[in-house]
Amino acid sequence: MLLEEESMTKEFNAFEMAQRQFDAVADKLQLDGGIRDLLRWPQREFHFTVPVKMDDGSVKVFKGFRVQHNDARGPAKGGIRFHPQETVDTVRALATWMTWKCAVVDIPLGGGKGGVICDPHDLSSSEQQALCRGWVRQVAPNVGPVQDVPAPDVMTNPQHMVWILDEYEKIAGGHYPGFITGKPVEVGGSLGRTEATGYGVIYTVREAMKRHGVPIEGVRASLQGFGNVSQYAAKLFIELGGIVVAVSCWDNDDQCAYTFRKTDGIDVDFLLTITNRFGTIDKEKAEAAGYDVLEAEAWLEQEVEILIPSALENQITSDNVNKIPKTVKVIAEGANGPTTPDADAVLKERGVFVIPDFLANAGGVTCSYFEQVQCNANFFWPKQEVLERLDQKMTTAFHAVADLAEETGEYMRDAAYMIAIQRVATACHLRGWA
Ligand code: GLU
Repeated sequence: MLLEEESMTKEFNAFEMAQRQFDAVADKLQLDGGIRDLLRWPQREFHFTVPVKMDDGSVKVFKGFRVQHNDARGPAKGGIRFHPQETVDTVRALATWMTWKCAVVDIPLGGGKGGVICDPHDLSSSEQQALCRGWVRQVAPNVGPVQDVPAPDVMTNPQHMVWILDEYEKIAGGHYPGFITGKPVEVGGSLGRTEATGYGVIYTVREAMKRHGVPIEGVRASLQGFGNVSQYAAKLFIELGGIVVAVSCWDNDDQCAYTFRKTDGIDVDFLLTITNRFGTIDKEKAEAAGYDVLEAEAWLEQEVEILIPSALENQITSDNVNKIPKTVKVIAEGANGPTTPDADAVLKERGVFVIPDFLANAGGVTCSYFEQVQCNANFFWPKQEVLERLDQKMTTAFHAVADLAEETGEYMRDAAYMIAIQRVATACHLRGWA
């Protein structure tokens, strides 16, 4: 089958998972052969090498990818990940989820994703700069403000985006700030972009609680991760009156994760003062401040009402799903693909209200879209306006999905897929593609 021979044979394959999720809903929607094949696979893929002159004078060659899953609704859109375990199938899955994400929040963009197999912890700043510039040199003819617009993702940040933009502009011979999003505000970034993904997750949680008639005050949450998404999700949840009981984070020295728990509520600002530049929280300092330092998976075993996995894919699996206590009523997926289909079936059976990844974490790309709009108009909005528009988009999208789920009795993930797939299929039909 098309592209199949390139698939990695690994126990967990994110792209197989994305296809399984798609297939289940395509059956429900009775999508016919042509459109179904089109949406099951990326439209275009670029696989390339990026040679980097290292600080010691040697040359190291990295493997890079850009996958454009579907651009029927607009230019492909999605982040670039730096990760030592990156595979083309992970990038394919993430690109696919971007298509559904942009469609479910109804922004005029398609789905794409990029990646480099590397661990940025092992690279100096100048080596990272060379990697970013080398990456875009390999794809410059195939990306751009009207083709494919990258952004930050796992282990990439606004500084990486400026290096990529600068190299692209040298090649293109002009200023194209709408080529890439998640830039620092000093170079055409949008106010509110840093907060957008985490805040977006909590806007959907807030609306879910409203629908269930439960006030947020005193409600407990536990989060996986302590990166950009998790930090801002925790901050807003606490601001709204909730209690964050635990967060987890990767420890680069020990090469494993730990959960940091404080049952009367963690203090995000304090934890940030004891977090190093790799995002690792200092265990001793945390313990001295009254935090329990627990094993990696403890975040999902806490007696809380809400779980927010905001780290990586493949985290809630059939091995640990039954460790989730009965108190958990809502799971809001801040990460992309954190729940495997088998674990998802268990959550569905248990009646947990799952706010699926491509809806819950769509705040980032929605704000990226606002960034593009502002760059194109060369007129920048105050932060308040950005966040209000973001809230409006997320709230509207959430209720459209929740209404459909309620009307049809469908699981939230399936309802979100139904809306997204239908929108993309319609654009493909209208273009005469299938
Ligand atoms: N990387 C983020 C995501 O997975 C944001 C993508 C973007 O802003 O284009 O949604």
